[in-house]
Amino acid sequence: MPNIDGNAIAQQVLAEVKAGVEALAPLIPHVVFVRVGDDPASVSYVNKKQKTAAAAGIRSSLRLFPEETSRETLLACIDGLNADPDVHGILVQAPLPPQFDEREVFNRITPAKDVDGFTSASIGGIVQENPAATAACTPAGIIELLRRSGVATSGRHAVVVGRSLIVGKPAALLLLAKGLDATVTVAHSRTRDLGAITRQAEILIAAIGRPGFITADMVREGAVVIDVGINRVPDASRKAGYRITGDVDYAGVAPKAALITPVPGGVGPMTVAMLMRNTLAAARAAAGMRATGPQPLPANHHAVP
Ligand code: NDP
Repeated sequence: MPNIDGNAIAQQVLAEVKAGVEALAPLIPHVVFVRVGDDPASVSYVNKKQKTAAAAGIRSSLRLFPEETSRETLLACIDGLNADPDVHGILVQAPLPPQFDEREVFNRITPAKDVDGFTSASIGGIVQENPAATAACTPAGIIELLRRSGVATSGRHAVVVGRSLIVGKPAALLLLAKGLDATVTVAHSRTRDLGAITRQAEILIAAIGRPGFITADMVREGAVVIDVGINRVPDASRKAGYRITGDVDYAGVAPKAALITPVPGGVGPMTVAMLMRNTLAAARAAAGMRATGPQPLPANHHAVP
């Protein structure tokens, strides 16, 4: 059972982004991160995104707001960034404190600068299979992992466990789209006899948020397993006091899988890489260059038939 190496594939994507950024000179793509409060996971995600941006030659800035920031203040900030021609991408780090309606905040971002792919316009563009639409970074990263690992999707049964707006639903839509052509089933917490459904999956995507939830008995022999989960599990032997595990019981499932993503080192690095790719695309579009959607796989590119 070979691992899909998300770190290596993310590095390939980032090298391509860096070359694309260099080709845009003297224009430098600029993404602005907006963070409200000091949620430790958000602090670490934004740091990681800023570091990766710098390595790819992308300029990034940070707008920080205290936890008690009002809706009006945050929306005014977004309006200012929307109007600023020097800004190509805007990312508001979730989760936001409870006084905010995240949908309202995300939808305030002008679609051309929506590098996270969370606005209604971006999601609608994915439903319409508009090649210029921005796909959310994690599902886009999943598709890129499959493409670059030579996983054929056409006509195959993909089961997505999870229906969130940021992972499950867009992942299902992308797999369903013409070109990828999977037959897609989406499962969630109300799904009956989940195992009977996941056992049908030739491609199984787990985006649940429960450590080790997908066990070997739920997986078909030879399946391609993509584990999106990032769960902090208490672990006294670690300096941090926790370790990160996925939604799949890796030790049990790996021997049955044709390919599997580890956690960490699978989907996680791809999410950040796709954010950089979306930022480059936004800057290219701002410079009047045509956006391009995912390129089809070469016909012989089926390592996992
Ligand atoms: P959400 O909590 O928004 O969604 C979880 C989904 O799992 C829901 O649709 C829920 O169903 C479903 N679910 C929960 N329990 C069960 C169950 N017992 N059986 C079947 N389905 C169930 O999470 P996200 O989609 O935001 O994230 C999912 C995981 O992915 C998390 O671990 C998160 O940390 C990780 N993640 C990783 C990223 C990365 O870069 N690798 C990026 C984003 C998220 P229902 O809708 O019915 O409640």
